[in-house]
Amino acid sequence: MDHAGLVFLAMLVVGGLAGALAHEAFHGIAAVLSGMSVKAIHVGMGREIRRVGPVPVLRMPVVIHVWPVAIGVEIDDDALMRLPVWLRVANHMSGPMANLLLAAILWRAAPVAAIANALLFVFNALPLPRADGGWAATALLAKIRGVGMADEIRWHERAFTAAWTAVYAAVALGLIRLAI
Ligand SMILES: [Zn+2]
Repeated sequence: MDHAGLVFLAMLVVGGLAGALAHEAFHGIAAVLSGMSVKAIHVGMGREIRRVGPVPVLRMPVVIHVWPVAIGVEIDDDALMRLPVWLRVANHMSGPMANLLLAAILWRAAPVAAIANALLFVFNALPLPRADGGWAATALLAKIRGVGMADEIRWHERAFTAAWTAVYAAVALGLIRLAI
């Protein structure tokens, strides 16, 4: 890879990492401002391998998982459910808003990092299952329909299963077309 390519990749990775941290920090701040406590910070995905702390300054435990590919704040779901619906939507959308803000701030100085954050904004804000935008959308829908968290979680799981079934079906059809 040439020099320009390496700089591009570095800006993408650094911009993406800064974006992920800002995203979770905004979720954490929104939670605290809404009167909820952040229970823990999770680094990585999958099986839990270590729980440290409560660490100083943050005053909460940090949980390390086996796959170092994500970071997240753990919020009390019951407390989140008890919030007025507009505040719930604000909590869900606070993360994507951090990415939109970073994209705007970095636009001139670091366009590649800005694009990484614009992408993070789009993918998190879209009303997709298990995405922030999806939770905001189902929070509104649940309020309109007068149903609880259990139904909302069921909607997400069904939509998630449907989306992956569609992906597998498309791949299978593609393979069949290649084969004949
Ligand atoms: Zn988020």
